[in-house]
Amino acid sequence: MTTSPRKLVPGIKLVVATHNPGKVREINALIAPFGLVAVSAGELGLPEPDETGTMLASNARIKARAAADASGLPALADDSGLCVDALDGAPGIFSARWGGTAKDFGAAMARVNRELELRGARLPSDRAAHFVSALCLSWPAGDDQIFEGRAFGEVVWPPRGKLGFGYDPMFLPDGYEETFGELAAEEKDKISHRARAFEKFVRACLP
Ligand code: IMP
Repeated sequence: MTTSPRKLVPGIKLVVATHNPGKVREINALIAPFGLVAVSAGELGLPEPDETGTMLASNARIKARAAADASGLPALADDSGLCVDALDGAPGIFSARWGGTAKDFGAAMARVNRELELRGARLPSDRAAHFVSALCLSWPAGDDQIFEGRAFGEVVWPPRGKLGFGYDPMFLPDGYEETFGELAAEEKDKISHRARAFEKFVRACLP
């Protein structure tokens, strides 16, 4: 990680470097109170770079750097995933890929459950998991800064709720009785991995 004295002052335009509508919504909601003008990579017609990194942080950096270089604006990217302890951290960096080209996260959640059952992991205590978010802020012709956040809990079956995106309906955060798929967006935004990474980003990059 490099440090940068540059701050994102109110009114500055920031590219939200993702084509995932669920992430665009969450990142826009987190950014809104700070007076930044958010524009998504999709709106700018920026291409989606290949995520060739072997870690979430490296993929976040690839996305933010590509968007900053292509747009000439500072860019914020998130790379994130669900890590299930009993699956040795899978799907982890492959979380999006488990959804396949159809982005079928019903099938991806079923696969998580199937693989846990194959390992005999049926009790809640066998099903510990966490989400991780790596955020990268890249400046055009400048620095990249990485911030990470985690949300701990367990995976449940069957999935519950229709809110959120991706694996939300099967993730029960510690201390809650509702999954991320059941929690209102504002509740998820208070405790999510992305919100925790965002807190670190705010401390470092906003005035
Ligand atoms: P990527 O970071 O765009 O490569 O994709 C990460 C994948 O992880 C997403 O497609 C989701 O399936 C999953 N994921 C990341 N964050 C969340 C979340 O907050 N809720 C549910 N699934 C998530």
